[in-house]
Amino acid sequence: RSLSQPVPPTSQPPHSRPHPHPRPLPLHPEISKVIFSAEQIDARVAELGRLIGTDYSDRELLVLGVLKGAFAFTSDLVRHIYPYPPHLEVDFFKASSYGSGTVSSGRVQLDSGFKLESVRGKHVLLVEDIIDTGNTLSALVAVMEGAGAASVRVCALLDKKARRRVPMEAEYTGFECPDEFIVGYGIDYAEKYRNLPYIGAVKDEFIKK
Ligand code: 5GP
Repeated sequence: RSLSQPVPPTSQPPHSRPHPHPRPLPLHPEISKVIFSAEQIDARVAELGRLIGTDYSDRELLVLGVLKGAFAFTSDLVRHIYPYPPHLEVDFFKASSYGSGTVSSGRVQLDSGFKLESVRGKHVLLVEDIIDTGNTLSALVAVMEGAGAASVRVCALLDKKARRRVPMEAEYTGFECPDEFIVGYGIDYAEKYRNLPYIGAVKDEFIKK
C-alpha cells in the first residue's frame, strides 16, 4: 500500500492487534526461568485496563507511573483503560528512598522535575512495578494525599505479599509474585533486562553476591 492511501478501517478494537514479535521469544541467555510469560502479562494488563476503565468511567484520571520500573507496565496499561475516562492524563516521576535504612525507612523523595501541585484535586492512580515491603507505596500514597489529590489508588503489576512490613493493599494487582528476585517487563537488575517482554529470574552466576 502506498503511503498516501488511508489505512482501511478495522472492526477490531486496537488492543486485539496481534503482537508484532513472534511469541514466545527465545529466552535471554542470562535468565533461568520465566515466571510470567509475555502472553500472561498482556492478558492480565488488558483485564486491569478494563477494571480501571469501568471504575473511572465518570471521573477524570491522572495515571502516575513510578520510574523506572513501571515504565513498560504504565505504557501498556493506559492503552487498555476502557471505557475511556472523560479525561485521562499520564505522567511519570522518579522516586528514591532516603534516610539511613533506604527503602525500609519508608520515606521517599520525588524527583525535583515533578510538580507535586499537579495532583491537587485529581483522582490519582499510582502505577508501580512491585509491592514488596510496602514502604515505597505507602509513603507515595501519603505524599499524594498530602498534596491534595481527590483520591489515590494503586495499581501494582506484582505483589509479594509474603514480604510485607507495612500494611499496603493495591486496589488493582496484576499477579501475586513468589518471593524471588525477578526482572523483565521494565524491571531491572543493575539496569539490565528491562527490555524483556516477560518476567523471569536471573541465573545465579549473573547476580553479584
Ligand atoms: P518496597 O518499598 O515495597 O519494599 O519496594 C518495592 C520496590 O523494591 C520495587 O518498586 C522494586 O524497585 C524493588 N523490588 C522488590 N522486589 C524486587 C525484585 O524481585 N526485583 C527487582 N528488580 N526489584 C524489586
